[in-house]
Amino acid sequence: MKGKGKTRVNTVKSPKKPLIFYYFVFMLALFLINVLLMPNLSEMKIQEVDYGTFITMTEDKQIDQVEIQTNRILFTDKEGNVYKTGLMDDPNRTERLYASGAQFSSEIIEEMSPLLSFFLSWVAPMLIIILLGQLLTRKLMKSAGGANSMMFNMGKSNAKVYVQSTDGIKFTDVAGEDEAKENLTEIVDYLHNPEKYKEIGAQMPKGLLLVGPPGTGKTMLAKAVAGEANVPFFSMSGSEFVEMFVGMGASKVRDLFKQAKEKAPCIVFIDEIDAIGKKRDGQMGGNDEREQTLNQLLTEMDGFEGNNGVIILAATNRPESLDPALTRPGRFDRRVPVELPDLKGREEILKVHAKKIKLEGPVDFNRVARMASGASGAELANIVNEAALRAVRDGRKGATQADLEESIEVVIAGYQKKNAILTAEEKRIVSAHEIGHALVAAKQTNSAPVQKITIIPRTSGALGYTMQVEEGNHYLMSKTEIENKIATFTGGRAAEEVMFGSVTTGASNDIEQATKLARAMITRYGMSEDFDMVALETVTNQYLGGDASLACSAETQTQIDKQVVELVKKQHNKAIKILMDNREKLNELTEFLYDRETITGEEFMQILNG
Ligand code: ADP
Repeated sequence: MKGKGKTRVNTVKSPKKPLIFYYFVFMLALFLINVLLMPNLSEMKIQEVDYGTFITMTEDKQIDQVEIQTNRILFTDKEGNVYKTGLMDDPNRTERLYASGAQFSSEIIEEMSPLLSFFLSWVAPMLIIILLGQLLTRKLMKSAGGANSMMFNMGKSNAKVYVQSTDGIKFTDVAGEDEAKENLTEIVDYLHNPEKYKEIGAQMPKGLLLVGPPGTGKTMLAKAVAGEANVPFFSMSGSEFVEMFVGMGASKVRDLFKQAKEKAPCIVFIDEIDAIGKKRDGQMGGNDEREQTLNQLLTEMDGFEGNNGVIILAATNRPESLDPALTRPGRFDRRVPVELPDLKGREEILKVHAKKIKLEGPVDFNRVARMASGASGAELANIVNEAALRAVRDGRKGATQADLEESIEVVIAGYQKKNAILTAEEKRIVSAHEIGHALVAAKQTNSAPVQKITIIPRTSGALGYTMQVEEGNHYLMSKTEIENKIATFTGGRAAEEVMFGSVTTGASNDIEQATKLARAMITRYGMSEDFDMVALETVTNQYLGGDASLACSAETQTQIDKQVVELVKKQHNKAIKILMDNREKLNELTEFLYDRETITGEEFMQILNG
């Protein structure tokens, strides 16, 4: 939601100033004034002269009064001017001075009157500082438009409030994610018509937790709920609560809920809630501020009754790291998964975003969606935008199918590297490598067919790649399918071996992926005979890359490693066999790709079946 409907509400209690800070600055200023300025003030009129001048003046009987201090001599002439000079080893000085008629005194610099001294050293600096402070405050307030400068804004939530705007996001703007929308529609209905629920005694959930990988539209969904329900929408990121000073976050939470209750019915959206909602582990040196903030949040959520019209939505992509107290019923009691879009969802998201750009010629969104398998909503939005940018770059009037297809590659693999020059030898190896993948994939009946093969280097570092297309949605994968996938990963290296009898570094990414799959088969999917259905690994970061940590003894680890090697080796050999059996096709296809640099799936299949 942007533009018109956005207002900021500043109806909060006066900001708390960190008094200790002012106190400290004030004391420092006083100290400096007293140490540096005051002594100089009283000695401003004293002229410094060398010892020779002092002697000459003594001889010329020009000295009126003299005072010998521990480290200097002060004296005045007949006109009353005050001089000073350094102290020297001069045994006859006193006699000479006496002879010259100088008077010995101890009060050459007249002490200022105690009242004046007090005024100068304490009252005046205080006045100056207070005045400066006032001036600064006024200036800061003005430049911050009221009360938003950091200093004066601590402990106050700066939740942005979006009030009923006409250009608000609606559910129709969020494509796909039907289950999540269904779940949230109930909330909208409640906000429209709370009586219906109160009559039966049904309690609305206080909080809903949107969980899913980044860029799947969690923020959008939350905004859409507010847009549909036409209620104010407070949005704040979890990290905004955490401040430098302990207690500030907690006071922000209090403030946010106070504002929300005033504006009820309304929606409070806390993005990246894991920033404050992490498990309290009780370790030494834990983050006090974060824990206090979390405690305050827990208290606030307990503090209001179910049906008071404040609904809290929160988003995270690390639900497993949240504190159990936060996810228990009564707080965030409903969890709404917002997953990566499936084929249909991807197509719809593409269409929603394509409406914002100009298209030229027929565009097959289904084909683009199939090519962009695994892409999130944000990536799809990016793909559409890249296509439009490409059209502008080429001076065309609208984006075409080709633009969309190319931009998938840009988003997935980076831009084409214009000046990466491969030697003929390298180019041939890369061709063989990519054809190896494609050929192994195509020859295994269950593998997805190839969409496109290219050997144009990309900025991501890929020298070439094979784009596979999944025909439909896949929710389950059989053991054979995973094995075939591993064989396909090893196909590139296998082709190098079959054709050139040597290997290159080009397969490093394949190796990584093949190993990951093989390991998961054994440790997580129970697909090995020896370990049966025992979980040997647990996934810690489901939505952020899916890191896994081993949970077994060292001996078992050794066995796992052995089995992983065996598994990959077996598939590697299978791939070599497939390529050996199709040696002629491998040569023919490699030459074809070498000449063309990019070939389509159809061309590939034609040669393969021809
Ligand atoms: P998240 O909060 O899950 O990280 P956002 O809601 O901020 O993701 O989405 C980022 C962008 O991705 C949105 O602004 C939108 O352009 C696009 N997007 C993501 N999911 C969808 C969707 N389902 N439909 C339409 N656009 C989407």
